[in-house]
Amino acid sequence: MIILVMNAGSSSLKYQLYNMSNEAVLAHGSVERIGMDSSIVTHETSGKPEVRVVSEILDHNAAVKKVSEMLTHREHGVLSSLDEIKAVGHRVVHGGESFKQSTLVTPEVKEEIRRLFDLAPLHNPPAMMGITAVETNMPTISQVVVFDTAFHQTMPQETFLYPIPMVLYRRHKIRRYGFHGTSHNYVSQQAAIKLGRSLDSLKMITCHIGNGASCAAIVNGRSYDTSMGLTPLEGLMMGTRSGDLDPAIVPFTMNKEELTLNEVNSMLNKHSGLQAISGISSDMREITESMNEGDKQAKLAFDMYTYRLRKYIGAYTAGMNGLDVLVFTAGIGENSVAVRKAVCENLTFLGVQLDEERNEVRSREARLISTDDSRVSVMVVPTNEELLIARDTYQLVKQFA
Ligand code: ADP
Repeated sequence: MIILVMNAGSSSLKYQLYNMSNEAVLAHGSVERIGMDSSIVTHETSGKPEVRVVSEILDHNAAVKKVSEMLTHREHGVLSSLDEIKAVGHRVVHGGESFKQSTLVTPEVKEEIRRLFDLAPLHNPPAMMGITAVETNMPTISQVVVFDTAFHQTMPQETFLYPIPMVLYRRHKIRRYGFHGTSHNYVSQQAAIKLGRSLDSLKMITCHIGNGASCAAIVNGRSYDTSMGLTPLEGLMMGTRSGDLDPAIVPFTMNKEELTLNEVNSMLNKHSGLQAISGISSDMREITESMNEGDKQAKLAFDMYTYRLRKYIGAYTAGMNGLDVLVFTAGIGENSVAVRKAVCENLTFLGVQLDEERNEVRSREARLISTDDSRVSVMVVPTNEELLIARDTYQLVKQFA
């Protein structure tokens, strides 16, 4: 069965085409700069060189049309007809409390996603544009939506509520939702498979650390707590986002610096984190390089970053009353030997024993980086959100095949 996975952002559309009989990626690509002049289309079919086209793509509808053309192109394509695609799976950021798992798209589901625009004004509208564009370009195809928040819907009230007036939860649904759920779900499953153990018997912390970053406490395969909250601003220090801070800093700064709400929001989301402390970059590679060359601010940014992550690991271990597996994933988690080392070095009291040689190995495979006698298994597991979206889509549509 052939499944197309789509991830629509405000000005971009990424796609991957899967053959679910062996989970092979047949083709993948992206349309960037949608609605701007000179949009860029990149497309790669397995085993062939990448194709790059500059074109005028005015909206998501035109982007999906372009993707359809690429997939069926005489030279660059892999399909003789779009009818070969059985279903399209979409990444949707916010499923609120309505969506606890992936679901087939129906008029009611679309209506509910629209109702949630308020909670994710930058992310849910483009996903909806993607869904509508597929309806226009491939009218008979089944569609599935997979939510970043869904995995965390198993959190109990004591971890998802904020200690503020309950009326705010009742009226506006202000609570912790958490994000990167598809990734936390995928890497926790892969880690258990690699260890040859059942998820049902494991207490796990998964650290998804890329430009955005969150960690999750997972008990028996179910999310128990996670560091992002109502929005993806809370929790760990990130590339340009502050993560946790005293909420009183917001009115205090607005008053002292005469900032508007939008300005302070932009400061915390776009001008904070690694970028703000290092004064160099939001990119962990550049931070580490500058730190190794003796830059003090880069070292401070690195130390704050790893300290804050370690604090969460300690807190979640206490929250779960134990820890069996610690997983690192995403750009920094999969690639930064230095971050993993700095975090694990000070977790020996929890039973974490990093194997320095294993930590240095570079690979695209899930792997153990702790010693054989470490009480906690520390792992690097490359994330693959697209594959999980393809799997969920397959599971939901195969009954109609
Ligand atoms: P996004 O959240 O945008 O998907 P990624 O998961 O791609 O981000 O992660 C991007 C981050 O990963 C950047 O901070 C980048 O510096 C970091 N990264 C990628 N490769 C390395 C590396 N070899 N060493 C350290 N950091 C790396």
